[in-house]
Amino acid sequence: MSHVVPVTEAEGPGRRFAVWIQGCSIRCRGCFNPHMWAKSGGRPAEALALVDEADRSDVEGITLLGGEPFEQAEGLAELAEAAQVRGLSVMTFTGYLREDLEARAARGDDAVRRLLGATDLLVDGPYDDALPDLTRPWVGSTNQRFHFLTPRYAHLRDRLGTCNDRLEVRVTAEGQVSVNGWATSDDLDTLLAGLGSRRRPPRSHNSRDGADPV
Ligand code: SF4
Repeated sequence: MSHVVPVTEAEGPGRRFAVWIQGCSIRCRGCFNPHMWAKSGGRPAEALALVDEADRSDVEGITLLGGEPFEQAEGLAELAEAAQVRGLSVMTFTGYLREDLEARAARGDDAVRRLLGATDLLVDGPYDDALPDLTRPWVGSTNQRFHFLTPRYAHLRDRLGTCNDRLEVRVTAEGQVSVNGWATSDDLDTLLAGLGSRRRPPRSHNSRDGADPV
């Protein structure tokens, strides 16, 4: 795992506990978070402990993003299943295509089958920086697709355009700035310049998060 944000309103419907996964072999051109590509550099996390933390955070669900959740499907399936048992929704972002994941599941990849089965809302497809999405919430490029795998968020199917993108900025007492959510690069640069930040924190198509000392 890379890190968590215990409460965010920028990474899916409602208030959510967001978990960024460390490690991604897809390596999309224009990925905002190449520092999350390496499998090393994260920290180990216990699935049920994360669900306990989410439970205490007064959120409606957990969002898994990265990095690539389906490259650590076994542990995240355990997390997602436990979250749903407690009534928390699960939204999962992946750079893989749903069809390819379902084919892997059909060939016997039980971890992928379980993580798909415990996901309410799946966003799939690699980030494509030539296709910026400026209308739908939470995604970075127009090729990425929403799949409503359970009825939990089916009411949003035709209403995604009414859900606003958000950008959240956190500043610690030590002056560390972190952002998550979505804004255009120009808007983000303007905002960070106003905060006195020297460079743009890295983000990604589906995590869009980073930190930068001011
Ligand atoms: S955009 Fe997402 S899927 Fe693509 S390389 Fe970055 S973390 Fe991986």
